[in-house]
Amino acid sequence: MKALLPSFIFLCVGLGMIATTRAGAAPMPVLIVDGQNNHDWKGTTPLLKRYLEETGLFVVDVATTPEKGEAAGFKPEFKKYKLVVSNYNGAAWPKETQQAFEEFVRGGGGFVSVHAANNSFPEWSAYNQMIGVGGWGGRNEKSGPYVYWEEKAAKVVKDLAPGRGGSHGPQHPFLVETRQAKHPIMAGLPNNWMHAKDELYDRLRGPAENITVLATAFSDSQKNGTGRHEPMLMTIPFGRGRVFHTALGHAGANQHEAQHCVGFIVTFQRGAEWAATGAVTQKVPADFPGAKDVVLRK
Ligand code: ZN
Repeated sequence: MKALLPSFIFLCVGLGMIATTRAGAAPMPVLIVDGQNNHDWKGTTPLLKRYLEETGLFVVDVATTPEKGEAAGFKPEFKKYKLVVSNYNGAAWPKETQQAFEEFVRGGGGFVSVHAANNSFPEWSAYNQMIGVGGWGGRNEKSGPYVYWEEKAAKVVKDLAPGRGGSHGPQHPFLVETRQAKHPIMAGLPNNWMHAKDELYDRLRGPAENITVLATAFSDSQKNGTGRHEPMLMTIPFGRGRVFHTALGHAGANQHEAQHCVGFIVTFQRGAEWAATGAVTQKVPADFPGAKDVVLRK
């Protein structure tokens, strides 16, 4: 009987039954990891926690590393959770914590990387496989290709040109364009929507194995950008686990506009559910932005 269980679960996913079995189910346990970040993690972890819990799907714990230096002693019990969300950009975790995290995702756990979490751990190869692409931390052509969207061919380009990984111009509001409208995370969202003032990450690069680019934003060379359509929302499989990667969500002290954007909130909530279950049951809210105006929730 034990041997039958995993295939039964896969069958349920295949038939889209998760949606019905989740209704009325207990909220899924989620762990947010934070403690070091060159962004205002103390201000944004409570936002991320609230966004997850207000879906009714999740109940959230937070694991916080020491604020400086090695994260020795940081050993969350990842396996207690259905999903891990990273709001962390800091020192390497202990080897055994890295291994536990790899096992967690490989074994079917969900993972969500938010904004500068993709700056983390340039030396940790499994982590870079999970996030697909990252920036800064000395990333370069050895990290893997640049990944961007070629508009004319309507496809993802992987470009092995040498150069640094990760940059951005001055913050500004920008249009996010859907590239995989049928993906559960994107289904029902407008094709284009205006995102609040944020850093538009560009020149991200990494292993990019099996990466699916769900949405992009145009990095305008007039704004110090690449002149390319850069990936903003992505999914990556890792073992039996699913990763949702949002490059959106910059936050400075008292500057959380990008994470108050309804587009950020909703794609984060949907990406989290998909990473945890492989399906999305949430309805698109009426205040979701269109192509013209930024919509904030405070
Ligand atoms: Zn930032």
